Amino acid sequence: MNAGHLDMGHGEPPVSGPIPQTDLEQKLRHREAAGRGDPCSPEVMDCRASLAMTGLFMESAARQSMQSDPTPIHTDALVIGAGPVGLFQVFQLGLQGIHAQVVDVQDQAGGQCIELYPDKPLYDIPGLPYSTGRDLTQRLLEQVAPFNPAFHFSQQVSQLSRQTGGRWLVGTSTQQFLTRTLFVAAGVGAFVPKELKVDGLAAFAGSQLFYRLNPAERFKGMQVVVVGGEESAVNNAIALAEGTYQVTGVTLVHRRDVLQASPEALERLAQLRASGRITFITGQITGIETQGERLTAVAITTPADQTLNVVLDALLVNQGISPKLGPVAQWGLAMARKQLSVDPATFATSEAGIYAVGDINSYPGKKKLIVCGFHEATLAAFAAAAYLNPQASGVLQYTTSSALLQQRLGVKTATSPPAG
Ligand SMILES: Cc1cc2nc3c(=O)[nH]c(=O)nc-3n(C[C@H](O)[C@H](O)[C@H](O)COP(=O)(O)OP(=O)(O)OC[C@H]3O[C@@H](n4cnc5c(N)ncnc54)[C@H](O)[C@@H]3O)c2cc1C
Repeated sequence: MNAGHLDMGHGEPPVSGPIPQTDLEQKLRHREAAGRGDPCSPEVMDCRASLAMTGLFMESAARQSMQSDPTPIHTDALVIGAGPVGLFQVFQLGLQGIHAQVVDVQDQAGGQCIELYPDKPLYDIPGLPYSTGRDLTQRLLEQVAPFNPAFHFSQQVSQLSRQTGGRWLVGTSTQQFLTRTLFVAAGVGAFVPKELKVDGLAAFAGSQLFYRLNPAERFKGMQVVVVGGEESAVNNAIALAEGTYQVTGVTLVHRRDVLQASPEALERLAQLRASGRITFITGQITGIETQGERLTAVAITTPADQTLNVVLDALLVNQGISPKLGPVAQWGLAMARKQLSVDPATFATSEAGIYAVGDINSYPGKKKLIVCGFHEATLAAFAAAAYLNPQASGVLQYTTSSALLQQRLGVKTATSPPAG
C-alpha cells in the first residue's frame, strides 16, 4: 500500500497555513459557525450537497474533519454504508458479539433499495418471495435492532489513516472513529443529487437553492420553482401546492412536457394545474437574475426558444440522484476496475482489519446481487471475529439452537423453561 494515500490527516494537519476556501465553502463555514448549530441542519446539508456535487465536499471534509470533533468514538467495528449489505453486516457482526457503528451519507438507511427502487418489487431475496426496496430495508432494520447499532447519517466518510496498534482512524466532516475493524459497504458510492448547472447558481445553495424538500416549512410564504420531471419533483410540487406549507406559489419546470410519475400523482397534478395552484412550464433554466445577495428570478428557455423570466424566492431542484464513488477510491486499497479487491474466503481487502462487502468489492465470479452481499457479510463477520480475537474457537453455531446467539439476539434461549 502506498502509505501516502492512507495518511490523510493523521498526526498533522492536511494543509498548513490559511486554507483557501471557495465561496461555497465559506458559506458552509458561515452557516455552521452561525450556530444553526446542527451540522446536519437542512441549510448545512444543502450546502454540503452542492459541495459534494462540485467535487469540493470531499476535500473540504478532509480539511475539517480533524477539527470538528477531536474526540473519536472508539469501536471494534465501523461499517461504511447502511445499504442492505451494510445492514446485514451489522447483523452478522452482532451474532459474533461485535457491536457496530454505521455511517452513511444519506439521511436514512437502505442504500440503492431506498434511493433507487423503494416501491419496486424484489423477487430474489431468500425466504421472501416478494418484497420492495422499502420493505426489505424495514425488515433489515428490524433484524439489526437487537444489536443496537449506532447510526450516523448524513455524513460522508472521507478520511482513513492507520494508527499505531493496528487501529484505523476514520473521519467524516463532523465525527471521527477509532476502529479495530472497518467494513466498506459503500455500494456504488455515495448518492448525491444531480446538480442544476447554471452560472452563479451554486452560491445560493442552502439559502435559496435546495435539493431536498424537507423541512418543507422553510418554504412558507415563498414563491417556489421546482425543477424536474420525475416522481420526486412531481410529488414535491404537489406537496408544496396542497396548502400545508403555506407557500405563495408553485411553478414546476421540466425540459419536456412528459412527466414520469404514478397515475395518481399525475392526476393530482392536473387538478392543481387546473385550479391554478401549480404552474407548469416546459423548458430549461438557462440563467438567473440577482439583486444584491438575493436570487430573484430564473430565466427559462422554452422549446420554442422563448425566454421566460420567473420570479422566485426558492428553487427546489429534484433532477434525480447519481452515485459517486468519491473518497473510497483514494484510500490506497487495492482495486480492480473501480472495485475493492478482496479475498473471497474472508472479504478482507489488501489492508489488515479492513473488509469490503456488497457492490463495492470485486473477486472472481462476483455478482452484484443482495444475496451475494449477504453471504459476503457473513464470512467477513467470521473473519473479523477471528481477527479481533485470535484465541476464540470460531466454532460455527446455529441461531436455532445456540443459547449464546439467542442471548445476543435477545430472544428466549432454547433451554429456557416455558413461561408460567
Ligand atoms: C433498479 C435496481 C434494481 C435492483 N434489483 C435488484 C434485485 O431485484 N435483486 C438484487 O439482488 N439486487 C438488485 N439490485 C442491486 C442491489 O440494489 C445492490 O446489489 C445492493 O443495493 C448493494 O447493496 P450495498 O449495501 O452493497 O450498496 P448500496 O445499496 O449501494 O448502499 C451503499 C451505501 O453506502 C453509502 N456510502 C457510499 N459511500 C459512502 C461514504 N464515503 N460515506 C458514507 N456513506 C457512503 C451510500 O450512501 C449507500 O447508502 C438492483 C439495483 C437497481 C439499481
